[in-house]
Amino acid sequence: MKYAIVGSGVSGIAAIEAIRSVDRSGEVVMIGDDPHGFYSRPGLAYYLTGELHDKALYPRTSDEYRQMNFRYVKGRVKGVLREARVLELENQTSIAYDRLLIATGAQALPLEMPGANLEGVFKLDHMEDAKRILKRARRGKTAVVVGGGITALELVEGLLARGMNVHYLLRGDRYWSGVLDEHESKIVEARLQVEGVTLHHHAELIEVMGKKNRVIGARLLDGRTLKCDMVAYAIGIRPRLELAIQAGLAVDRGILVNEFMQTNDPHIFAAGDVAQVYDPAVGRSVLDSLWGPARQQGYAAGLNMAGKTTAYIKAPPFNVTRLAGLTTTIIGAVGGGHDEDLVGIARGDSETWRSLPDALVAQSGFDVNHLRLMVGEQRLLGAVVMGDQTLSYPLQKIVSERIDISSIREKLLAADARIGDVVVEFWAGLRN
Ligand SMILES: Cc1cc2nc3c(=O)[nH]c(=O)nc-3n(C[C@H](O)[C@H](O)[C@H](O)COP(=O)(O)OP(=O)(O)OC[C@H]3O[C@@H](n4cnc5c(N)ncnc54)[C@H](O)[C@@H]3O)c2cc1C
Repeated sequence: MKYAIVGSGVSGIAAIEAIRSVDRSGEVVMIGDDPHGFYSRPGLAYYLTGELHDKALYPRTSDEYRQMNFRYVKGRVKGVLREARVLELENQTSIAYDRLLIATGAQALPLEMPGANLEGVFKLDHMEDAKRILKRARRGKTAVVVGGGITALELVEGLLARGMNVHYLLRGDRYWSGVLDEHESKIVEARLQVEGVTLHHHAELIEVMGKKNRVIGARLLDGRTLKCDMVAYAIGIRPRLELAIQAGLAVDRGILVNEFMQTNDPHIFAAGDVAQVYDPAVGRSVLDSLWGPARQQGYAAGLNMAGKTTAYIKAPPFNVTRLAGLTTTIIGAVGGGHDEDLVGIARGDSETWRSLPDALVAQSGFDVNHLRLMVGEQRLLGAVVMGDQTLSYPLQKIVSERIDISSIREKLLAADARIGDVVVEFWAGLRN
């Protein structure tokens, strides 16, 4: 059996591990166009701030790769000949396959405005972007950052840590309104201001101004201009569908796959940020752009490619991140409504977070120790844990294992309830 995997991200690597757990002798080839190979993309944020060396972002040793026993081809696949089951690469070579995995990920939506191509305008997709940003930050003084999700905030914090003055532009009236509630957005914004970030609400960038092809400023819709040496943006992402479209596979916003990660061509599978996976729980196909689901989808795809039929069961999304230095866990559906800052979906984001669940909200805590629960009829649908993370693991279990919380529902929804204590007590009871 010949397996081909396009994309050297976490879903592609997980697929190889899965294939090898079933088939020790089949031929596996991975084709990837990132010159830096496989590394932790969430880790790029810590590389930007200087907390991690770039070497720390590579999770596999060369010994581990050897044991996985596959051929790695550096290059870009430009076409899939489905009838012949052959991949065409940009360097004019071709690779035959019996089973193909498209794991091409997603990429940043481009900034589309005058000046977007000037030297000094950056996105944060890959290791190479991070290296370019760091190089520029060494020479620059002031940056303008645009975008409303996690990646934009990572840019803000990275540039701040590198000694730059940062203007952060938000199109709406608060940070990440699609996922966080008003209080949570305020907590993040207050911390950013203390760190020295200049926040601009209802601020829309319409032009990057330049001189001799270099950034010198940013023009806003309301007529204001801000002097700067750099503009960094994270305004959403989109799955890389070029190959799937060229191959005539069924696509919507991502490549459509069933719960076995199989496309409408039974020889071709898709996984990770590029895949739009059928979720039986909600009866529709959804996009995630999270590391954990990408790994799980890649693993499930690999098993199915090697003939071990295994359904991918989507778990409620879960992400531990840092917002303005504050460790934050987001679990399941937390709602929040319309987010004007994002077109599509953000990095490290899940559509499930955006769908406002049919739930009542219980809240407690103060600025750096905040807890929000989305309380359904019989179970918890989601949670936001900011600051103290003691409850992060119990809540993840309670949400993902759909544990019946009827016995504590009233207590959670009582006025002035100490919801953290109620959850702790409930969790202790469960463990006993
Ligand atoms: C800055 C940043 C911060 C993030 N933070 C978080 C976080 O906090 N939590 C979280 O859960 N997730 C986070 N994510 C998202 C997470 O990294 C992704 O969900 C995950 O990497 C997706 O893995 P993947 O394998 O689907 O795709 P990718 O990691 O995107 O890998 C796909 C690879 O395929 C390559 N490729 C594309 N087309 C071709 C082609 N035609 N030929 C050859 N190669 C091709 C691409 O260059 C890329 O290397 C973050 C991502 C970024 C960029």
